[in-house]
Amino acid sequence: MGILEVQNVNKRFGGLQALNNVNLNVEEGSVHAIIGPNGAGKSTLLNCFVGRLTPDTGSVMFNGQSLLGIKPHEINQTGVSRVFQTPEIFTDLTVLENVMIPAFAKRDGAYKLNPFKRVREEAEVRDAAEEVLVDVGLQDKKNMTAAEMSRGDKRRLEMAMCLVQDPKLLLLDEPTAGMARADTNRTIDLLKHIGETRGITKVVIEHDMHVVFSLADKISVLAQGTVLVEDKPENIKGHPKVREAYLGE
Ligand code: ADP
Ligand code: MG
Repeated sequence: MGILEVQNVNKRFGGLQALNNVNLNVEEGSVHAIIGPNGAGKSTLLNCFVGRLTPDTGSVMFNGQSLLGIKPHEINQTGVSRVFQTPEIFTDLTVLENVMIPAFAKRDGAYKLNPFKRVREEAEVRDAAEEVLVDVGLQDKKNMTAAEMSRGDKRRLEMAMCLVQDPKLLLLDEPTAGMARADTNRTIDLLKHIGETRGITKVVIEHDMHVVFSLADKISVLAQGTVLVEDKPENIKGHPKVREAYLGE
């Protein structure tokens, strides 16, 4: 059984069938890439995993528990974190403060009622945030205002904001979008490193084939809301359906 099991998911927007009987089986500890042309339904699918959208029909199971009908913050508390297609950071806060916020969000609200607990937790959260900033290579920039950061660093910050929550499943929507090659390669290394040291399962939507083939254990190809094939990278490259739908051959 996979850590994330998606069965027969359908999602319609008016007259558009954005997801059409989608199945996905993500193995624990693996990197599962979702590729496909623009408008294929990749982000829609991810939105169905985090409670931003509810499928019309079908099931989404994480660790044997249904994620449907659960609020986004509750899904987050079960161990699912997400990196968005456009960074969602607090630009007027420092890098360190940005990382502390999701760490507090993951904890329950009880500390608010107890000032002693709150002080202690704040120290713990700060330590955890600093540790994660070392992991993503932003420790030297922790006191910088997030607005001043480069695009690549913003994405690293956003990854730190997920990692500080110690997720079991990390969802990444085009983590290298708009990055120059050097930043892309740093992101690949970072994602590999995260996988090794923390054993986090990752689902990555990605356009850049270099990234996909560097990272993925499994690839699902989505086109017009339908999964054409789910297989190992070596079997995806030459697959006739993939060449036709995705590479335009
Ligand atoms: P991808 O991420 O693969 O590029 P999306 O999942 O963003 O594709 O979109 C799939 C299709 O659904 C597109 O045709 C898009 O225009 C449409 N779509 C996405 N979100 C909505 C929405 N909230 N309302 C209406 N149509 C949407
Ligand atoms: Mg998208």
